[in-house]
Amino acid sequence: MPEKSPTIWTAEHFIGGNPAIDLTNTVFTRHMPADDNDLLNAPQDVGNWLEFAGLATRAQANAISGILDPEFLENVRKLREASFLVFDALAGEKPPASDALGLLFEQAAEGFATHRLRPRATSATPEIAHFDDPKGIAAFLAVISVEASIVLPRRRLHACPRCGWLFVDTSRGGRRRWCSMQTCGNREKASRHRVSSNR
Ligand SMILES: [Zn+2]
Repeated sequence: MPEKSPTIWTAEHFIGGNPAIDLTNTVFTRHMPADDNDLLNAPQDVGNWLEFAGLATRAQANAISGILDPEFLENVRKLREASFLVFDALAGEKPPASDALGLLFEQAAEGFATHRLRPRATSATPEIAHFDDPKGIAAFLAVISVEASIVLPRRRLHACPRCGWLFVDTSRGGRRRWCSMQTCGNREKASRHRVSSNR
């Protein structure tokens, strides 16, 4: 497989309103699956993502980048997809699949049981014992998803009708429709404009 250049994370990738939701959005789009749809293509992408999300320092992100275990990326993607299934169901006001929720709880629990994660006094988000530990990183991502599945206001969780990215609507009126006005909102307006000017 040819090496891909690392994903450059920007604020546009972090519109979910919660790190667990942002993690589900680490694909270009949910509606047009393509071979190169993924934004997580190497341990480095995972490390840089955690750093951008404010969940790791540069040194910690570098430790993640150095993970050589080939199963690491596969496992992170698997967790992300389980997380997507859970939150996409909730956004559609449906009960999430037990299998997907079970995988997240299982990996989260294992992280604590094996001391890869350390509980904190001040936050539900645990500390990662070793950032070069692939199972610890995966367990951490599972924990933030489990936490979000419990605490996020479900009625405020939505899927962008254009790209399928998920977000928590924190606007006062609760009428946010798009992942972002800059991308999908404007594209929708532009396509409507094209339709009406063709008439
Ligand atoms: Zn969108």
